[in-house]
Amino acid sequence: MNVPFADLHAQYLTIKDGIDAAIANVIKTSAFIRGSYVQEFEQDFAAAMKIKHCVSCANGTDSLYIAMHGLGVKPGDEVIVPAHSWISTSETITQAGGTVVFCDTDAKTYTLDPVQLEAKMTPRTVGIIPVHLYGQPADMGAIMAVARKHKLWVIEDCAQAHLAQWEGQQVGTFGNAASFSFYPGKNLGAMGDAGAVCTNDDGLAARMGRFARHGGLTKGDHQIEGINSRLDGLQAAILSVKLPHLVGWTQRRQELATNYGFLLRGINGLGLPVTAPGREHVFHLYVIQHEMRDALARHLNGLGVQTVISYPTALPFLPAYARFGHQSGDFPNAHRNQSRILSIPIFPEMTEAQQQAVADAIRSFSE
Ligand SMILES: *Cc1c(COP(=O)(O)O)cnc(C)c1O
Repeated sequence: MNVPFADLHAQYLTIKDGIDAAIANVIKTSAFIRGSYVQEFEQDFAAAMKIKHCVSCANGTDSLYIAMHGLGVKPGDEVIVPAHSWISTSETITQAGGTVVFCDTDAKTYTLDPVQLEAKMTPRTVGIIPVHLYGQPADMGAIMAVARKHKLWVIEDCAQAHLAQWEGQQVGTFGNAASFSFYPGKNLGAMGDAGAVCTNDDGLAARMGRFARHGGLTKGDHQIEGINSRLDGLQAAILSVKLPHLVGWTQRRQELATNYGFLLRGINGLGLPVTAPGREHVFHLYVIQHEMRDALARHLNGLGVQTVISYPTALPFLPAYARFGHQSGDFPNAHRNQSRILSIPIFPEMTEAQQQAVADAIRSFSE
């Protein structure tokens, strides 16, 4: 049986009538840029995330850049990010004029290790960007305590973690701003690029909105120079059809993760995801570990099971950051994990038979 890594078409078929009607309505009203569909989605998304303001934008990467611009990052400012993430988290610091400082991740949860945070600080440190990687919240209690003590801002990178919770509180509500991506494969995905940045801070919301829209919240008003980063009407209308399904889709991901726990129990050499106490994981990805990761991936692909590695090279070791001259020993956990991690299929439309086929394929590798 072939099992795809994700199946966006299967998801479309479950909501086809709603999506088709939404697209037709946008075309009928020509509400391609701005307009009611964008406004409605911003309001509904802010409510679902339990945050006051939502500034929609062109993609998740822009949302990080817009947030840092709104927070006033300037040359010389240092921003701390986990060593293990997608490059958007760090490249946007440089774009905003700041300096990237990497901090190692926790060995088990893959999220920023708060214990190492203070050692990374200098008088130039201005902020921290924790990433709720794979769908598991970072340790927000410890991270916010460090941020408060040193008067640092926090932008939560929630691209993989819509609706995840830390101690019963939704991610995105801890920091000064929360960045979201609606890249098609994310837990809430558009049919193209889309993103949003949310905040409870009225002033920050206004600054971010202005910057994302050529420096003015209304046409012709340019208080500052900005950029053009917009969510378009078609994507907004599509996202509004999908948003009411997010809770159900998330529960299904969690159910599949629990099932994997049973199906993959006791396999020699296989590491399963660890959810730390007090954290609710939304399983954007189901990441296993194996010492012979590449051989396991080849074995699975040979049996028709698609896998992905997120990410095969931790950020400090990428050519893009060769300027820092980092060594593997600087970030031992991120370095160890990069050669062991493997993401196996998990998506709400996955059938029991598909999941069983994945589990059987993994088991047959060890036998
Ligand atoms: C997807 C992602 C982003 C960026 O989102 P885009 O919409 O692709 O620009 C940022 N951070 C993380 C952790 C992501 O997974």
